Amino acid sequence: MNKKNKTKYAFFNGEFVDIEEANINIRSNIIHYGGGIFEGIRAYWNKEEEKGYIFRAEDHYKRMINNAKIIAMDIKYSSEELTKITIELLKKENFASDTYIRPLAYYSSLNILEKFTSDDYGFFIYAFPLEEILDISKGLNICVSSWTRINDNMIAPRGKIVGTYVNICLVNYEAKKNGYDDGIILTQNGHVAEGGGQNVGIIRDNKFIAPPVSDDILEGITLDSVIIILKDEMGMETERRSIDRTELYISDEVFYCGTGIQVSPITCIDKRKIGDGKPGKYTMKLQELFFKIVRGRNERYKDWLTPIA
Ligand code: PMP
Repeated sequence: MNKKNKTKYAFFNGEFVDIEEANINIRSNIIHYGGGIFEGIRAYWNKEEEKGYIFRAEDHYKRMINNAKIIAMDIKYSSEELTKITIELLKKENFASDTYIRPLAYYSSLNILEKFTSDDYGFFIYAFPLEEILDISKGLNICVSSWTRINDNMIAPRGKIVGTYVNICLVNYEAKKNGYDDGIILTQNGHVAEGGGQNVGIIRDNKFIAPPVSDDILEGITLDSVIIILKDEMGMETERRSIDRTELYISDEVFYCGTGIQVSPITCIDKRKIGDGKPGKYTMKLQELFFKIVRGRNERYKDWLTPIA
């Protein structure tokens, strides 16, 4: 086991190197213009089996390869190859804990006068141990952000394009400085888009509702998983449609979902109690089911998991 439990390696431009050797030239396009695309993937540790599983690895890499096309980048690896590289990296790291994996492809041209030069890109993956990023047991205290979500014709929010994350950082900064856990960002039309780095969904009258992808949200893999679990394990009706700001206030339950946050109840929005102000019963059931699935304790969803072996 990696005793210090911290990052030692990176897969960097075709080879495994010491993490300290994985550095980018200050003249690169990515530094100046944010021309890159990344992913956030989790691997979960199953204590009893002493084994780790990567959650929906190929789906994450497919999203990355697909959305790279938005910035005219042709990633030369396949999702299968990237999954294999990730397994190799995690085996070398040997964290024996829940892990966050960060792949990133970036424009590496050293001529800042050239913008996107499609053959000139760098690629890395590194990983680090990560448990919960916020306390997801007691309910989050959220505001609606004063910032507006970027839209598809600015820089598409559907994929994890590096430069777009300034929009998310502004939401996080404002919310935290004002004493909230996070902020929900609205579209230019005033519809609910998503949280500051996670998707959001509501439950009203026993039905789950999440914004459509055309409401400027990231095409979340956790949201997709959650919809399947709600339908197949909890028999819940689900719908994708626009949600208004005030519909959040009158929902029975509101929750976040995403690779970082996982599944977390929201119990307060803009100082209004959601439901009875306690974590919702459906959300907590979903959270329990989700953790069983991602740790390999539900055979039905084993094809979502790639063993680190
Ligand atoms: N929205 C944004 C802006 C995000 O950065 C993330 C995290 N990747 C999500 C939603 C959730 O997506 P996923 O479930 O694929 O991690």
